[in-house]
Amino acid sequence: MHKIIQPRTITRNVSLHFSIMDKRANPRRRRLQAMLKQLSAILLILLFLAVPAHAWNNKGHMTVAYIAYMNLDPAVRKKVDRLLESHPDFQRLTEFAGSPNGQNYRLIIFMNAATWPDSIRKDPRFYDETDSESSPTPKIDGFPSMKRFTRWHYIDFPFTPDHSPLTDPSPVNALKLLSASRWAINNPSVPVAAQAYFLSWLLHVAGDVHQPLHCTSRFTNELSPPENPDGDRGGNGFKITDFPVPEGNFTVDNLHSFWDNVLGVKRDLPSISALAAQIMAHHPKPSVISTDERRWTNESFRFARTRVYTINQHTTIPPAYFSKAEKLAQQRVALAGYRIAEVLNKKLK
Ligand SMILES: [Zn+2]
Repeated sequence: MHKIIQPRTITRNVSLHFSIMDKRANPRRRRLQAMLKQLSAILLILLFLAVPAHAWNNKGHMTVAYIAYMNLDPAVRKKVDRLLESHPDFQRLTEFAGSPNGQNYRLIIFMNAATWPDSIRKDPRFYDETDSESSPTPKIDGFPSMKRFTRWHYIDFPFTPDHSPLTDPSPVNALKLLSASRWAINNPSVPVAAQAYFLSWLLHVAGDVHQPLHCTSRFTNELSPPENPDGDRGGNGFKITDFPVPEGNFTVDNLHSFWDNVLGVKRDLPSISALAAQIMAHHPKPSVISTDERRWTNESFRFARTRVYTINQHTTIPPAYFSKAEKLAQQRVALAGYRIAEVLNKKLK
C-alpha cells in the first residue's frame, strides 16, 4: 500500500488564489502567479500518482471506460457527455481533461467519472458509514448522499476449501448499486445531478465486478468467523511474497492487490489507448453482449475459484501464473467495457 497525500484542498486553494490574482496582475504578481501555476501542476501530478489500490487500479478502470466510450452509439455518447456535465463533482471530472475544445476532453471526463467513486474514499466531504467513528458530513447540493458507500464496490460470495463457517454477502453490495444505477439513469423522476452521480458509480462498479476478487471471499480455518467475519476479504488477507507491480515503483503483498494492478499502473492517455487497442484486438466485441449483472458477478466468482486461488499463500507469483492472470484480466476488462456500452446504448437510446 502506498501512502496517500491530500493535495485536493491544497490545489483548490491554489486555484482560488489564481482567480483573485488574475484581476489585479502586475509583473511581480505575474511571476508569483507563474510559480503558483507550476506548484499547482506539481500537486496535480502528485495527486495523480498517489492513488490507493482498490479494485482495478485507475488504469484498469480508465481502460474499461475507454473501451466503453469507443463502443457507445454516437447519439448515446452525446447524451452521456451532456449528462456528466450535471455531475455534482463535475469540476473534479475535468481534471487533466485539458481545454473544453480539446480533442479528448469528453473522453477524459468519462474516464475520470469511472474512477470518481474511488476518489471519495479519502475525501473529507464524505464519510464512511461503515465506520462508527466517522460522523456524517454536511450535505452538498446535487449529491444524493455524502456516504462513501465502500460496500458498493464488491459482492463477496463466500466459498471455503476446508468446510470453514461462511458469511453471506452484505445486503449493501455491488449488485444493489448496479440495479439502482440502471433505475436512476434516464429516469425523469430522478434529478439529473443524481442520474449523473449514478452514472459514475455504474461505470466504476461494472468495472469492479469484472475483477474476480470483487465477487468472492475465501473462508479458511485461519480466516473465518467469529474472528474474521469477512474471511480473507476478497484476497486482501491472502499474503504473497512482495510482487513488483508492472510499470510501477512499488510492490504488493496480497492477492487482491496483485490482481488490481496486474495490467500496470501507467494511466496517461497514450498508455491507456494503446492497452485498450491491444485488448480490443485480442477480444473483439462479441455478437451477443450480456447486460445481466448477475451473470457478470457469477462469472467472476467462478474465475476466482478456478483461476485465481490456484497458488499457495506466502509464495512468489510464478511467471506462468502472472501471464495467465494478465490474459484473464484483459479479457475481463474487454467484457466490462463492451457490457457498459451495451447497457448505456439500451438505456439512453
Ligand atoms: Zn472500486
